[in-house]
Amino acid sequence: MRSILGQHWVPSLKKHEPYTEPKWHGDEVRRLAGHRPACPDCGSDQDFGPRHHSRPDGSERHYRACKACGFWHEADGSPAYRVWLALTIARSLSARPNWWPRARHAGSV
Ligand SMILES: [Zn+2]
Repeated sequence: MRSILGQHWVPSLKKHEPYTEPKWHGDEVRRLAGHRPACPDCGSDQDFGPRHHSRPDGSERHYRACKACGFWHEADGSPAYRVWLALTIARSLSARPNWWPRARHAGSV
């Protein structure tokens, strides 16, 4: 586990101001006007910008994301996070089928 989650290849996020709905709408207006903002975390402008997704309940989820570094920031004031880290953890757990069930059931038998 230590080598998978080692600090040497899990870059920590920089400090980011809370991202909010008004900021998202401002970013979306600029995106529609043709602006290509740079990611506030890695500086790449390859595939960064405001994004939206329809939820099953009909509402819309607003966030900004960078597909170069995995920087993800919901427009609800919550802290930014790195997406591929979660994917890496899930993959590491499924790669250890014996380890996870034993730990989970320890003491319950
Ligand atoms: Zn980035």
